[in-house]
Parts: sequence; C-alpha cells; structure tokens
Amino acid sequence: MAKTALITGISGQDGAYLARMLLARGYRVVGAYRHTSGVNIGRLEELGIAADVELIGTELLEESNIRRALALLKPDEIYNLAAQSFVGLSFEQPIYTADTDALGVLRLLEAMREICPHARFYQASSSEMFGKAQAVPQNEKTPFYPRSPYGVANLFGHWSVVNYREAHGFFACSGILFNHESPLRGRDFVTRKVTLGLALVALGEADTLAIGNLEAKRDWGFAGEYVEGMWMMLQQEQPDDYVLATGRSTSVRAFVEGAAAGLGFGLEWTVSGLDARGVDKRTGRTIIVADPKYYRPAEVDLLVGDARKAKVVLGWEPRTSLEDLIQMMVKADYDRVKTGVIRC
Ligand code: GDP
Repeated sequence: MAKTALITGISGQDGAYLARMLLARGYRVVGAYRHTSGVNIGRLEELGIAADVELIGTELLEESNIRRALALLKPDEIYNLAAQSFVGLSFEQPIYTADTDALGVLRLLEAMREICPHARFYQASSSEMFGKAQAVPQNEKTPFYPRSPYGVANLFGHWSVVNYREAHGFFACSGILFNHESPLRGRDFVTRKVTLGLALVALGEADTLAIGNLEAKRDWGFAGEYVEGMWMMLQQEQPDDYVLATGRSTSVRAFVEGAAAGLGFGLEWTVSGLDARGVDKRTGRTIIVADPKYYRPAEVDLLVGDARKAKVVLGWEPRTSLEDLIQMMVKADYDRVKTGVIRC
C-alpha cells in the first residue's frame, strides 16, 4: 500500500518540490495549509501537481487541528515545513514567529506522541541557528548562536526534535538546511527579490531595485535537490540530524552581479556601503539603490556549511552550481514578467 506523507507548509517552495518528489515515488501526499482566506496552490500549479496533492486545513497554533489531521490521516511520514521563515519579519513579529516555529513543532510532536508515535518526522531546521557563526564551515557539531527571533525559535524546534528522539524514542530528524533557492522562492528573500527585481527593471516595469546589506555571505543551493535530502533522512535505519549545504559561500553583492550579468546589464558600483548604488554602464542608468530599511537589527554575516556527514551517510550531494541556479531564476523571472504573469 502507498505510504502517506503529510507535509505542513505545502504552499511554500520546499513543500512544492517535496510533494513532487514524493508523488514520483508513489506516495499519497497530503499537504497541510493555514486556513486564512484560502490556500495558495500557485507553486503546486507551476509544478503541475496541484490535482495530485490532497489538502487539509491545519493551523499549527491550534493543537486540536493537528490532532484531527493526524488521527484522520495516520501518516507514515511527517515533514514539518510550516514556519514563519522570513528572518527580517521575525524582528517585527517575534511572538507570532515563536508560537509557530518553536511551539508549533512541540504541538506536532505532542500530538504524535498520542496519535502516531511511530510516524517518521522531519523538522525543517535552518542554518540561521548558527547565526554569529562559532566556526567556519558549520557542521552538526558547531555550537549555535542564533541572531534573530526566527533563529531562536528554530533552535527550540531543533532541540525539541532531539529531545523527543532521546526521551520518547521517536524517529525524528532535524535537517539543518543552508539557504536553498529556486524560481519558486518567496519574493521577500534576497535571491528572488534580486532576480525578479532586476527582471522588472530590464523589461521597463520598474526603475530600480532597492537592496540592503550587500556584504552578507550565504551558502546558496538549489531547493529541488535539498528536498531529496529530507526524504533520505527518513529512510535511514536510525534517526539523526544532518547539515545540507554546498560548502561554498557567496556575498549578496556577487549574487546581484551574477543576476545583472544574466540580464545583460553591465553593472558597476558607483558608491559603496549604506549608500551603495549600481549603475548600468551601457546606459548610465542607476538600477540598484541601497535602502537602510532592508538592513537587519542583528545580521548573520557569514554562513558556509559542511555537509560531509550527509554525503557519507545519506549519499546526498548538491549538483546545481550557483551560476546555474542564478541563471535558472533569472530566466524564470524574465519570462514571467515578459509574458505578464508578474507585473510590478
Ligand atoms: P536569510 O539568510 O534566511 O536571512 O535569507 P534572506 O534571503 O532573507 O537574506 C539573506 C541575506 O541577504 C541577509 O544577510 C540579508 O541581510 C541580506 N539582504 C540584503 N538585502 C536584502 C533584501 O533586500 N532583502 C532580504 N531579504 N535580504 C537582504
């Protein structure tokens, strides 16, 4: 009989890629979404799987919702991808972020304890837990030092998973994923903001792209490959925690330069720092302006992951280079703007 997988956060980037991967492996896939004004299935539609994923309204703030969903579905595998995952917003909404990202995990684990303690559980932990990085590169043994309400909440979820494994014998895994991007990435994250923003400028739909800290460095991989690692973690004999990363760190500035080149701009920085300005050499037009609004009260300066454990134990390795990822995202956004799918 087909296995049932429950994915919380089905409307997000990772939910869509994971659902596609599990469907291809013959799973029955049920996606949990927040009951707001409706469910956003745009990403499932883009991947052509909207009709194949069952949906269930489940709010992680409501214990009863979670219990009902688990009792109804009796899932074999649960992937908890639901979160307020935007670091910038977490400074403005720290309590909501903690309720969803920290206590939400605990609510799920507690409900599992009563209803389906043998289900396998994946928790979407994040490299933001490393924050002010205590070692370079970061692996499963690196001490944590979160720098945002999101990072702090995520760390609570991570330790809850470890605790339920040790205290209750759960098959629960925490995937410590470094930034992973794609054409389906939310528009507020810097990579997508840049590829879409510059596509809008290139096609005359916007004048400039406003940006924050250009010097921060991230380890960016392709999300479509990271969801494979999630699944692999749950297929092992023993539950454990794994870092997934590329091992390569690149500045926001270099990402912007790559995206600009992909769109045919000849980008030149005329001013640096807080007043940074990027000009298109061919036309003399300013296309990028720094805006202090996008700086964070506390920044994570450098993240670079060491995913050797995932490679050795799971056989997981990223395949897409950052250059190819940038081109994939730039092309998708250029096409969306050109065909009117997205307007400014
Ligand atoms: P994060 O690593 O989860 O915070 O992912 P983001 O994509 O939101 O941010 C990555 C880095 O880009 C952070 O260091 C941000 O400070 C930096 N950054 C610079 N400008 C921007 C911007 O306009 N929006 C966002 N989201 N991040 C920016």
